[in-house]
Amino acid sequence: MRIGQGFDVHIFGEGDHVVLGGVRVPHSRGVVAHSDGDVVIHALCDAIFGALALGDIGRHFPPSQEQWRNADSRIFLRHAARLMREQGYALGNADVTVICESPKVGPHAQAMREVVAEELGCDVDRISIKATTTEKLGFTGRGEGIAAQACVLLVMA
Ligand SMILES: [Zn+2]
Repeated sequence: MRIGQGFDVHIFGEGDHVVLGGVRVPHSRGVVAHSDGDVVIHALCDAIFGALALGDIGRHFPPSQEQWRNADSRIFLRHAARLMREQGYALGNADVTVICESPKVGPHAQAMREVVAEELGCDVDRISIKATTTEKLGFTGRGEGIAAQACVLLVMA
């Protein structure tokens, strides 16, 4: 078995939605990012790369490369899943926590689980997506940005 963890943050900016777990979530702000700024998928990718000891998402998809501008982050997750399978692993389970005061994640969590499970080639019941606030403390509490952390367990396929 291999275990990995990931963390990602994006700052809020212009826009009317955020993308979380591959799902478009209406919001009063957007996020500033080179790609679509999907903190759920970015944290998950880093957790998988971490479990495989293959560096981080910036190494695999450098922000300096123009081709990743506004990229659909599902491409990144698909790549991580392919590397996982190439190394002989399958996803045991993944647990993601989104950290923000808003938008509300709960109503979209099931749709996010389904997207992530499809990209990782596993059953939905292996994917947990939950949310918390920071009680109005810190940058997430002040509504300046959104964060996510992820843990994954990889098992021999
Ligand atoms: Zn990110």
